[in-house]
Amino acid sequence: MERVGIVLLGPPGSGKGTQAKKLEKELGYKQISTGDLLREAVREGSPIGKMAEKYMKEGALVPDEVIVKLVEEALLQTQKFTLDGFPRNTNQAKMLEGLLESKGAVLQHVILLVVADDEIVKRLLARRVCPVCGRVYNLITSPPKNDTICDDCGVELVKRQDDNEVTIRNRLKVYREETAPLINYYRSKGILKEVDASRQPEAIFSDIVEIISAKK
Ligand code: AMP
Repeated sequence: MERVGIVLLGPPGSGKGTQAKKLEKELGYKQISTGDLLREAVREGSPIGKMAEKYMKEGALVPDEVIVKLVEEALLQTQKFTLDGFPRNTNQAKMLEGLLESKGAVLQHVILLVVADDEIVKRLLARRVCPVCGRVYNLITSPPKNDTICDDCGVELVKRQDDNEVTIRNRLKVYREETAPLINYYRSKGILKEVDASRQPEAIFSDIVEIISAKK
């Protein structure tokens, strides 16, 4: 069986993680989130985690070589995957191409989640995450059933350290300067699809499923 993958592209807070989790649960595309892998490394206090922490606190990009190594390891363990938060710049996109070729994998789609900036800041400030299962909530638009407790795990939700106004602004700046050029990069390759991500997760997911199921 051929190894296949999807890239979810979009600013912080556009819903990449939420959609990647749905793709994993419903269609078997394993979520490879470089942000989650880095946060795990920080929690464990591993050498990578120690090095990455200062970049993450500022909302800056962690060096490409470190990230590509993380992705390579994750890719080896799966046949069907979604890349969530990677690539983040053109250099990473080129490194990804080399990686995919060496693993006999192909990129099926790059799906761009489109949301306006002011909506993003609002979303990130209201974002809470389950520290156990990683499920993402928004206290305004998709709150848990009880207060700030995860519906699935029953534990108190947490706010990500980088979801504060100063770091959010910097993450948006980094997105505009370093990641947004990937839109034209993938558009020119003819594999970019756009989805209106200002809507509820279910509506966004249904568009993504349509893209994936469509015969090219
Ligand atoms: P995310 O969870 O995708 O919002 O990522 C959180 C933080 O992890 C980012 O602000 C970066 O500091 C770092 N990070 C995640 N993915 C990458 C990547 N592909 N390249 C460089 N840094 C990354």
